Amino acid sequence: MLCLTCRRVRPALSRSDYTAERALLIVTRGLCACGLPPGRTRPPPAVREPVAAPK
Ligand SMILES: [Zn+2]
Repeated sequence: MLCLTCRRVRPALSRSDYTAERALLIVTRGLCACGLPPGRTRPPPAVREPVAAPK
């Protein structure tokens, strides 16, 4: 259930994985994000670039 890399809880693969024990582990250890493709773990906040003022 735990990720061997970050020692956090790996995402549940099926409904039967959503147990109270898993929920408690997620709260105490956090969720593993190693398996997620790069860039999807924490998307950067959408920053609106200011419109370039004419010089
Ligand atoms: Zn991990």
